[in-house]
Order: sequence, then structure tokens, then C-alpha cells
Amino acid sequence: MYPESTTDSPARLSLRQTGSPGMIYNARYGSPKRQLQFYRNLGKSGLRVSCLGLGTWVTFGGQITDEMAEQLMTLAYENGINLFDTAEVYAAGKRSSLVITTKIFWGGKYVDIYHLFILYSLKASLERLQLEYVDVVFANRPDPNTPMEGECLGESVLTETVRAMTHVINQGMAMYWGTSRWSPMEIMEAYSVARQFNQIPPICEQAEYHMFQREKVEVQLPELFHKIGVGAMTWSPLACGIISGKYDSGVPPYSRASLKGYQWLKDKILSEEGRRQQAKLKELQAIAERLGCTLPQLAIAWCLRNEGVSSVLLGASNTDQLMENIGAIQVLPKLSSSIVHEVDSILGNKPYSKKDYRS
Ligand code: NAP
Repeated sequence: MYPESTTDSPARLSLRQTGSPGMIYNARYGSPKRQLQFYRNLGKSGLRVSCLGLGTWVTFGGQITDEMAEQLMTLAYENGINLFDTAEVYAAGKRSSLVITTKIFWGGKYVDIYHLFILYSLKASLERLQLEYVDVVFANRPDPNTPMEGECLGESVLTETVRAMTHVINQGMAMYWGTSRWSPMEIMEAYSVARQFNQIPPICEQAEYHMFQREKVEVQLPELFHKIGVGAMTWSPLACGIISGKYDSGVPPYSRASLKGYQWLKDKILSEEGRRQQAKLKELQAIAERLGCTLPQLAIAWCLRNEGVSSVLLGASNTDQLMENIGAIQVLPKLSSSIVHEVDSILGNKPYSKKDYRS
């Protein structure tokens, strides 16, 4: 975690009262008009993003209707969210106050002309988004086990990626670039290549982060932030919905784990480890009740308590879920060190950082 006193911490928080017209009153979760919104710097870049972003994986990919997707985006925007992790519909006319990201997927078959693959993929994405540029383009590896050692035009894939990303930024197609699911070593190497060849380095890494997945974001990424300014944009704060408690007695219909193509999630939930996690969630639920919030809100606020996190990407399949999740901002001030300690004891998975070893 980042020392609170560092002036260049990505979590230099600013408070802003939402002033957008047409805010929607939601009796269940309180009026957004009273909500204070938090903005953080993305790594050490000057880009300010809302500490909650809206993701579009799964839900926008067919689980929900276009109308619901548009409602979610509008609701997110009206509640101060300015970060949209690739969304092909967005509230027209608000571009100047939005931060939009997209991802280019690593694909082995294009490796020998990788820079062209990046260029064409980004062009196609911009066309679909009907945008001239995105704020951040991510180089995503679909699976952390995909090797990145391939060669293209005599250069390593990684070197070629750095050059291609620099090119698309110089062409005005993106403002910044980031990595997604890269190892700290690879990110460091990309940074070194960029410095050595006068190219542009990445500004942030998209990494999985939630109560059951901590090591990379809590131990490895803070070092990178301090050394090279790379920030963390984190995803799956509810572990794909597991940390909502909905899987307590099986897999309910219409949940993500019931969707076609998500057997892996179902298997995970029904496994031994999955059952152990459900038992821990019951204990965490009791803490949430004491704090007067829901389990998803506790889980999202818990991610936000980590000042190394620039933004937490939310997923929601309806507006109630989104409003509930945005309400996590109000839970954040309630996470005292004793509550965090209590959560840690239940989870039993706090990773040790170098700092902890020294103390
Ligand atoms: P998540 O918060 O872990 O899961 C979201 C899902 O949980 C929802 O679709 C919903 O599923 C359920 N849910 C959300 N709020 C709930 C609530 N209040 N109560 C009950 N259930 C609730 O987030 P995620 O969708 O996995 O990830 C968020 C974003 O991160 C993605 O959209 C994407 O932009 C990004 N991401 C990036 C990568 C990468 O490789 N870079 C990978 C994954 C995700 P159901 O209602 O359908 O059960």
C-alpha cells in the first residue's frame, strides 16, 4: 500500500459535489445529490479518473439490452463516473468530460506483423466507438500464460508493442497506453524499452483485485508505481459477482455463473474453495450489517481503501446493482483500521509486502 504522505500518490483525492442536472433520485440508496465523488490520478499521469469506473465486459456483451446499457452509462455519468472501460454506446455530447478506454487483444497469429495488428485493431475499435481517439488503449493478454517472447520483424513482441503504442499515440488515436494482465517484469521491461528508444511508456496496468485476489495489486504494483509511475486500474471487485453473496446456496438463474460460456465460474463457485469463500462471506456480511451497508458495498469500498488503486471498474447487470455499488463511496470513510483488520482476519490472505518484512 502507498504511504499516505507521498505527494505523488495516485490517491491524491479531490472531492467534488456532483452538479450535473437531471440526477436521478433513488429512494433505496439515497440521493446522489448528497454523494461526494472521488477522483484520482491514473498512476503518475495527469489523467484524473473517477475512483469508480464502469466496465462493459459480459454485461454489455449480450447479457443486457442496448437500452439497459445506455441507462447504466447515463446513470453512471450522472453520479460522477467519468471512466468507461470500452463502451460502444455513450451519452452523446459528453465526450469532453469522459475518459474512454479500449483494449487490443494479444493474438499469436498476427505476431509477425504485430504493429499492424495493433494499428488496425485500434482503428476498428475507434470506428465501432465512433470516436476519433480514446484516452487509454490497453494491450491486453487474454490469459496470463500466453507467452510474450515471440519475435516479429526481428524485434521482441514486447518491443514492437511499445513502438506501436507510441505510434498510435503520436497519430492522435490515443492519449495514453496501458497494459492489462501483464506481469510486473513485463511492465518494467516495456518501461525500459520505452526509455532506451525514446518511446512512450505505459501509465497503468489493469489487474484483477478483490478480497480473494490481492498479491499483485497490494505487493507488486505499488513497487512499480514508486519506480516508474504505473498506476492500477482494477477489475472484478466482486469476483464476478461471487462477493455479492448470491451464490450462497447454489447458482441462481440469470446470474453470471448461469450464463452460457461461464461454466468455469460455476465450477469455481461449487468447488471446495468456493464453499470456503461462501463461509467467509457470511462473516463479512455481518460486518457489512454493522456498518449499515451491503456486502457488495463493503467489498467495493475495501478495494477503494487501497490508495494504490486509481480506479475500480464496476460491472452491473441492472441499474439497482449499479446504484448499490456506487453507494460504496459512502462506506469508504467507515473503513477504520480496526474494521480493515477484522476483514483481514476473516480473509486470512493478507500478502506480505517488503515493508511488512522490515517492520
Ligand atoms: P464484478 O463486480 O466482479 O462482477 C460484476 C457482476 O456481479 C455483475 O455483472 C453482476 O452479475 C454481479 N453484481 C454486480 N453488482 C452486484 C450487486 N450489487 N449485487 C449482486 N450482484 C451484483 O466485476 P466484473 O464485471 O467482473 O468486472 C468489471 C469490469 O472490469 C469489466 O466490465 C471490465 O471492464 C473489467 N475487466 C477487465 C478484465 C481484463 O482482463 N482487463 C477482465 C475482467 C474484467 P449478475 O447479476 O449477472 O450475476
